[in-house]
Amino acid sequence: MATKLQILERYFGYSSFRAGQEEVIDALLAGQDAVGIMPTGAGKSLCFQVPALLLPGITLVVSPLISLMKDQVTALVQNGVRGAYLNSSLTWAQYQKALRNARAGVYKIIYVAPERLLTPEFLDFAQEAPVDLVVIDEAHCVSQWGQDFRPSYLDIPEFVDKLPRRPVVAAFTATATPRVRRDILKLLQLRHPFVNVTSFDRPNLYWEVRRPKDKLEELFSLLESRRDKSGIVYCATRKAVEEVCQALQERGFSATRYHAGLEDGERQRNQEDFLYDRATVMVATNAFGMGIDKSNVSFVIHYNMPKDLEGYYQEAGRAGRDGEPAECFLLYGSQDVALNRFLLAHGEENPDLDERTREELLHRAEERLQAMTGYCHTTACLREYILHYFGEHAPTQCENCHNCLGHFLEQDVTGPARQIAACVGQLRDRYGVKMVLDVVRGSKSEKVLRQGFDRYPAYGVLAAYREEELREIVNAMLLQGYLEQSTGAYPTLQRGERAFDLLRGEAEVTMRVSAKNDAAPKARKRPQDLPKGDPALFDRLRQVRAKLSAAQNVPVYVIFSNATLEAMAAYQPTTPAQLLEVPGVGQAKLQKYGREFLQEIQCWQKDHGENPNESPSPSAEAITSP
Ligand code: ADP
Ligand code: MG
Repeated sequence: MATKLQILERYFGYSSFRAGQEEVIDALLAGQDAVGIMPTGAGKSLCFQVPALLLPGITLVVSPLISLMKDQVTALVQNGVRGAYLNSSLTWAQYQKALRNARAGVYKIIYVAPERLLTPEFLDFAQEAPVDLVVIDEAHCVSQWGQDFRPSYLDIPEFVDKLPRRPVVAAFTATATPRVRRDILKLLQLRHPFVNVTSFDRPNLYWEVRRPKDKLEELFSLLESRRDKSGIVYCATRKAVEEVCQALQERGFSATRYHAGLEDGERQRNQEDFLYDRATVMVATNAFGMGIDKSNVSFVIHYNMPKDLEGYYQEAGRAGRDGEPAECFLLYGSQDVALNRFLLAHGEENPDLDERTREELLHRAEERLQAMTGYCHTTACLREYILHYFGEHAPTQCENCHNCLGHFLEQDVTGPARQIAACVGQLRDRYGVKMVLDVVRGSKSEKVLRQGFDRYPAYGVLAAYREEELREIVNAMLLQGYLEQSTGAYPTLQRGERAFDLLRGEAEVTMRVSAKNDAAPKARKRPQDLPKGDPALFDRLRQVRAKLSAAQNVPVYVIFSNATLEAMAAYQPTTPAQLLEVPGVGQAKLQKYGREFLQEIQCWQKDHGENPNESPSPSAEAITSP
């Protein structure tokens, strides 16, 4: 029987496991349930796909998204694994055919939508089939505390109970808050599971917060210097997606868009354009990306601040899944806080919740928003800030975020802050940010005049400031406890605990400002010191990949990741055996693509007068015959 390492090499082309993978695999092979809480890109799929290939029977994988299933199954089939998916994207006839094949034992791994599990047809099949392993991917969907609650995930234990023999059950997720973790263990009825929690750190990701005067201009300049790269721009609203995408297209960027308001056909098309590298920039709301396994995303730019760090880290984490250096930018504007509060207050109502629970959830959401805002204001290490939030200890200097590499000035804003606090007092803690700022800026708006606020001492004292600047100061004051804000749809400002120190002249308010936003960052750290190949060869290998991708209608990263091409360019293998040594090249891919890449490398060596090694050049048969 093959060992797990042989399976890893043969099917996936990797020579070693990553942190945590082996332990989970061993537990599952020993018949123990398991939970893997590992960040996006950590390699959760292999934790169940390797055991699936070693166990005698079949493995069922419950997965929440059609696109996710399709992607994973495509990747498996590319690697020579017999896999299939059963979900609503199949026609009735296709579904019947897949089920027939499944009954005939054609598939080793079957992905299935949770809604299918208890249907008579599927149950009937599952009860006859030798199910050894049931995997619950994106297991946080079972929890109401998670962001993607999916009621049919609650059916999973009932399904497992109905099987004649209880299979091993494994659950995986990248969402790690303690409450969701507890729900996964309890609601999915795992039995004494082995639990593996890996570090959430993604050393190859670079973090930066920018606060541009003009976000669109900032975005143009970020994208201009990354024209050859693929990336995602996240916006808070559908409207923003449309505007930003159109602006980018008008500027000649290859951009496409995605949000829940588009009709299915367009959404699907746009997503594929991005996955297949026909469009290099995806502008989207947070509806885009769950389960999208595109490994060569080089940057994620948030055009608006998201509502919490859970969402931010998940979205930004879609960059650099191939382990290559990648960048995460957040374009912060002080309006973002207000926008998020509005979205929270007007969010979807869950009819199953009573009033108290709803209020509690809103309160929690406000706290998360506060933590997110803190990220945009901190001058300390951004990576540490995130990891700390997820309960992880981290060094206070990562040397791969803007705060560690860049320079900041602490600006003293005590003067205007004191005026703002005084104004809030004069308005008796009853009005929102907008009114407070209108008063201190001396607005002649009807609302201000009708109330007679133009006769208050605070009226017009900060007329020299832009509203935007003052909003920044208000946010800094909120974070530092000089002001507080009520919850709800129309939040009002109150003087906070420390406001009186400020009014008495016993406290100072400071605010972070970038010394120079566009200062060239120091050389960024690479995750590992991989040898770099000749960029010209790398480019030619990419062209080979693009040709194969177009010919076979599969995304480029399904063929080989950038990291694999880099390694090829560095090692310059000339025989099939040498090519197999390259991380990411397994038997199936060697058979499928080996010849093209080896030929290209040989051509390149000839063009560059390099004498390859003495071994004879590979013949076609050496590669294509099993
Ligand atoms: P997750 O589900 O945890 O977000 P995936 O399972 O999709 O992550 O894996 C992310 C990427 O990491 C994939 O491209 C996968 O091929 C790669 N990967 C997984 N395990 C290894 C390994 N042991 N060595 C090298 N690459 C790996
Ligand atoms: Mg996954």
